Amino acid sequence: MPELPEVETTRRGLLPLVGHKISNVQIRNSSLRWPINPNIKRFLADKIILSVERRAKYLFLNFDNGALIIHLGMSGRMQITPQNEELKKHDHVIFEFAGVKKMLRYHDPRRFGSIHWHKDNINTHFLIQSLGPEPLSNDFNQEYLYKRLRNKKQCIKNSIMDSRLVVGVGNIYASEALFLSKICPQKSSSKLTKRDVHELVESIKIVINDAIQKGGSSLNDFAAVDGKLGYFQQEHRVYGRENLPCYRCQEPIKKILLGQRSSFFCKRCQK
Ligand SMILES: [Zn+2]
Repeated sequence: MPELPEVETTRRGLLPLVGHKISNVQIRNSSLRWPINPNIKRFLADKIILSVERRAKYLFLNFDNGALIIHLGMSGRMQITPQNEELKKHDHVIFEFAGVKKMLRYHDPRRFGSIHWHKDNINTHFLIQSLGPEPLSNDFNQEYLYKRLRNKKQCIKNSIMDSRLVVGVGNIYASEALFLSKICPQKSSSKLTKRDVHELVESIKIVINDAIQKGGSSLNDFAAVDGKLGYFQQEHRVYGRENLPCYRCQEPIKKILLGQRSSFFCKRCQK
């Protein structure tokens, strides 16, 4: 599943399209997670892409009359290809550009992704309005997180994976950040000290930033817009290392289920 780093990698890959005018939109299959509004063909006719932004795992293609909000779901990809390249089975939406011999394709075999049109302030969209801060932003800091965790009984791993608290901390990144900050994933959120929270905030930023630098991570191979694969799993510090020795203390890594998700940790150095 594309995580925040893959989506950020995709955003950067789409930047060459900024300033180009859309000449045609083909909707070959509109039944994504939500049906695609057929009027987007009309809304986007002759419109120039003003910018490409990202919030959590949503991409925004901004135009002077609104924005396309794109979510890649479980298996979605945005690919820029030559104009004459044959369409593939799961290429559901095709964007063509005036004077550019390239196409942008939304490809999604499992169709859990979505494409919405929104003409008002993006922060008012129902998918966006309740999202917590970006992990790499200054709004995600010790003071903020400590305040939000103080009264939570839920285990810390499930708290940091809640997108209302902070966005983009998927299952792998949660295990990795808790290992780095030496916090046990089952620990009650309210029991974290200010120092723990400081370490955790810093660790989340390191883990997400590392993944972005490496071009995104996923258990499945992830093709960035230019077709290069982004891999990260061979460099996990703890995720997927059940029974292998901890890099810090040699204790075998444990695997447990928390909220139906696999969690990996070292019971000696994560307290
Ligand atoms: Zn250890």
